[in-house]
Amino acid sequence: MTNIVGIDLGTTFSAISRVEEAGKPKIVPNKDGKNITPSVVEFLDDGSVLVGDEAKKSIGYNDENIVQEVKRSMGEDVTYERFGTTHTPITISSMILKKLKQDFEAVYGEITSVVVTVPANFSNDAREATKKAAELAGLKLEHTINEPTAAALAYALQSESNLNGKYAIYDLGGGTFDCTIATIKDKNIDVETSEGVNKLGGKDFDEKITEIVSSKYKEATGQDLDPKEFTPNDAEDIKISLSSKDSAKARVAGQVLDVTREEFEAATSTLITKAEMSVEAALRNVGIDASGIEDVILVGGSTRMPMVVESLKKMFGKEPKLFGNPDESVALGASIYAAHNTNSEDLNPLQRQQMQNFSLTEAAPFYFGTIYYNTDEGKTRVRNIINKDEKIPCEFTENFVTRHDNQTAVDCSVTQAGADLDDPDMVQIIWDGTLDLEGGYPAGQPIQITYGYKEDGTMTCRFKDVTSGAEKNIDLTIGSDGGKPLEDEFDPDAFQVD
Ligand code: AMP
Repeated sequence: MTNIVGIDLGTTFSAISRVEEAGKPKIVPNKDGKNITPSVVEFLDDGSVLVGDEAKKSIGYNDENIVQEVKRSMGEDVTYERFGTTHTPITISSMILKKLKQDFEAVYGEITSVVVTVPANFSNDAREATKKAAELAGLKLEHTINEPTAAALAYALQSESNLNGKYAIYDLGGGTFDCTIATIKDKNIDVETSEGVNKLGGKDFDEKITEIVSSKYKEATGQDLDPKEFTPNDAEDIKISLSSKDSAKARVAGQVLDVTREEFEAATSTLITKAEMSVEAALRNVGIDASGIEDVILVGGSTRMPMVVESLKKMFGKEPKLFGNPDESVALGASIYAAHNTNSEDLNPLQRQQMQNFSLTEAAPFYFGTIYYNTDEGKTRVRNIINKDEKIPCEFTENFVTRHDNQTAVDCSVTQAGADLDDPDMVQIIWDGTLDLEGGYPAGQPIQITYGYKEDGTMTCRFKDVTSGAEKNIDLTIGSDGGKPLEDEFDPDAFQVD
């Protein structure tokens, strides 16, 4: 049996979907029968590890042995020490993926092909980290897909009506927020832009509930709230209740405290404003106003909060579209994409029929550039080589020249930024290295820099000494140790604009 699978590896919850024999994607419940699995890992002193619901239940009681929300640190140099072992966001993510894999394979057998989703604004390092986690979990990961794109795919392929126009995908999950604008015509999806906030999600709303309850508790008792008496899970329960009720009761150490939706909405209005600013930025990137959007599609469990719907109604003047279960559409779309990328001989006729007739074009999530010496300004600057929202796949070349006579090397860098910036201090350097030159030439020797961005979200960069043909090629998906700061010996004078 072919098992074509999509995994939504979320900050707070993860989900797995399979393309069924009839060609439709379907969420596969975990062994506890739940469609979503908490992305929580708990280490026990007997050496065993719990992943998912069991681990989540211990939040607030065994926090020192729990690791959660690692998605927020993917690609970063973060470690967690538990019982003498060092874990990283990659190893923790691999445990979550392994749990999904095991529960799935217990029912269906081995996974044939898999796609894992990532937020649209994930950096190259974070994407790379996700791939490593999949590899560690024993998954052969061919592709990642951006979460809002996966959701758009699920929407386009399962929509009853004919889609035609620009659609906004508003994705507020447990830890990240993305707003993507895509042109959808029937089953052809063309991603125009994505804007987002990496650290904005349900968790931030839970924390506001805890703040409200803490201050009410203090007011009622004069005491500080003991975190064990009111755990983050309790806060989440109150938050979820407030999505369907005007007020909810927090029971804390013998006290019953009322939290109203009004209080909650007042406390979280800045979070909603942050999301609104991203939506506005996305509209600006595409050069349209809210009236140019056909429909707003809700994705992510946190879009169940009435204030999200209200905010979108205010911005767009119409009701956003809730399609299916908002925390399942990303995984569903990922499995559709996995089938799309599967050799058609491995699909049955029904699956093949469902998967053809759709196309997908992604957009570059960042500006990618290089640092060079700008002779006119007399200082180093960033020259962008691939612009944000450039259609993928793409390849661009920029020409530079050496600055000094008899130059024997140029320092090369790859920069990444969310905006069109030319100040080297404002951008992230995701790779740096040296291209050795033969020497013996006068200044002005041509250096050609070519960046290519592939459909699978990976980038190749080529630094070429045109005179000798010597090249430095970097594939930013393999062995990238990006994100490090400029090294001391970096010579910013090494090359300049042609
Ligand atoms: P996701 O990653 O899409 O599964 O979203 C998970 C987030 O959605 C978590 O922070 C949940 O607390 C939140 N969530 C789920 N259901 C609701 C609800 N009814 N109201 C508010 N937040 C919710």
